[in-house]
Amino acid sequence: MSDTATSSARHHVVIIGSGFGGLFAAQRLKRADVDITLIARTTHHLFQPMLYQVATGIVSEGEIAPATRIILRHQKNATVLLGDVFDIDVNAQTVTSRLLERVTVTPYDSLIIAAGADQSYFGNDEFAEYAPGMKTIDHALELRGRILGAFEQAELSDDPAEREKLLTFVVVGAGPTGVEMAGQIAEMAERTLKGSFRHIDPTQARVILLDAASAVLAPFGPKLSAKAQKRLEKMGVEIQLNAMVTNLDYDGLEVKDADGTVRRIEAQCKVWSAGVQASSLGKVLAEQTGVELDRAGRVKVGPDLTVPGNPNVFVVGDMMAVDKVPGVAQGAIQGGRYAADAIKAELRGQTPDQRKPFSYFDKGSMATISRYAAVMQVPLPFTEKKFETEGYFAWLGWLMLHLVYLVGFRNRLNTFINWFFAFTTRGRTQLAVTEQQVYARTAMGALSELERREAEEIQEKLARAQRRQGA
Ligand SMILES: Cc1cc2nc3c(=O)[nH]c(=O)nc-3n(C[C@H](O)[C@H](O)[C@H](O)COP(=O)(O)OP(=O)(O)OC[C@H]3O[C@@H](n4cnc5c(N)ncnc54)[C@H](O)[C@@H]3O)c2cc1C
Repeated sequence: MSDTATSSARHHVVIIGSGFGGLFAAQRLKRADVDITLIARTTHHLFQPMLYQVATGIVSEGEIAPATRIILRHQKNATVLLGDVFDIDVNAQTVTSRLLERVTVTPYDSLIIAAGADQSYFGNDEFAEYAPGMKTIDHALELRGRILGAFEQAELSDDPAEREKLLTFVVVGAGPTGVEMAGQIAEMAERTLKGSFRHIDPTQARVILLDAASAVLAPFGPKLSAKAQKRLEKMGVEIQLNAMVTNLDYDGLEVKDADGTVRRIEAQCKVWSAGVQASSLGKVLAEQTGVELDRAGRVKVGPDLTVPGNPNVFVVGDMMAVDKVPGVAQGAIQGGRYAADAIKAELRGQTPDQRKPFSYFDKGSMATISRYAAVMQVPLPFTEKKFETEGYFAWLGWLMLHLVYLVGFRNRLNTFINWFFAFTTRGRTQLAVTEQQVYARTAMGALSELERREAEEIQEKLARAQRRQGA
């Protein structure tokens, strides 16, 4: 089935992605004389910085992922389409997306591509089955199921070695997401689950945070990195640095240390938070336009965030490679707004060569470690120096800032209430897991295996029929 999304008489802006880059670009065009079609493969705008709180039962997925069409319902010039974009034709100026068997071709005058990034397993994609990443709601719910499922299985086991394996949690990647996950698993075991099992002691769970690099939260510099490490260790998290994962399976992982020793850690529950790979739409652009991609697959855009030679094709957010712009929410928000402003200026008669280059305003970085502890780094104006702090006030700052950027008043209120109870008591309200969440990946794997076998059978039947005809 194939459709063509209505082409409009007004300047038509197509936006791919409903994340920070896509949504903020669409909202910036609210009063512009344009028609906008926002196409995304998820129905929601996901606030990724709080995914770890979904995975560890602090907030619900609805609070951090409001429906995009509800956010934009009063913006009359915006249409939201659900679909997975798999092709962009920069000559015909069309975007092709798929929803189940329905293929939709959407023409554009200007295109803003904000399709973000996926988890990178550095060429070992098979690791994903045993160590989910942390990029989507599916990932967070699957991880929540795996974490709580491991405690449940341990409660039933009489075998001490098996129990140890089930109560060992390994987080790979000691960046902000890894640190947040390790801290929260430790806190969940220590506070929330304490006393709720009869055969195991959840506080005995072993949480390991490992990284091939030599520091925790390396981009935050040596001082904050050391403080974060100390704080995690105080909570009982084992930090293993200069440790590279060389293999990973259902029961554990193989790690190579700096001295070349290879050792094995038995752990059923693994979390992968090491490395990102930009959306494969970058490759689609590269094949057509010859634009260069960096090692993470990000598009090397020009100073106006467009693909060289294509002044109407903007790439923003985690997909763009621009000097000194990190892959963070502010990079995407500012990039999305810049692209929207450039389109508005063009409607007023500005030509692409008159555009001012994109300039990123660094508002600082933060990462939480645990309840009451975070690190924060804010650039000081007119100097190269940064203000650094850690502990309670940094944590309060993290909470406040993340509340401000959550979309929707009720989401903010609900989150605030959940935070209040999660941090002042031992309670977490979002600990439900369903069988489907835990087994979805296995079920989908089995389904694709079934589809593959069916396809092979059909091929075989066709080949046999052709042979019979030939004979
Ligand atoms: C776990 C985690 C924690 C983080 N914590 C922080 C933090 O504390 N502070 C911070 O500043 N940043 C943080 N980040 C980074 C920040 O979330 C990203 O930099 C930001 O989301 C990038 O925005 P984006 O619009 O480029 O991509 P995204 O927000 O990832 O949005 C991509 C959009 O594109 C859609 N899409 C993807 N492919 C297709 C396709 N083929 N067809 C159609 N639609 C598609 C997706 O559905 C999604 O809507 C975190 C990221 C993660 C994963």
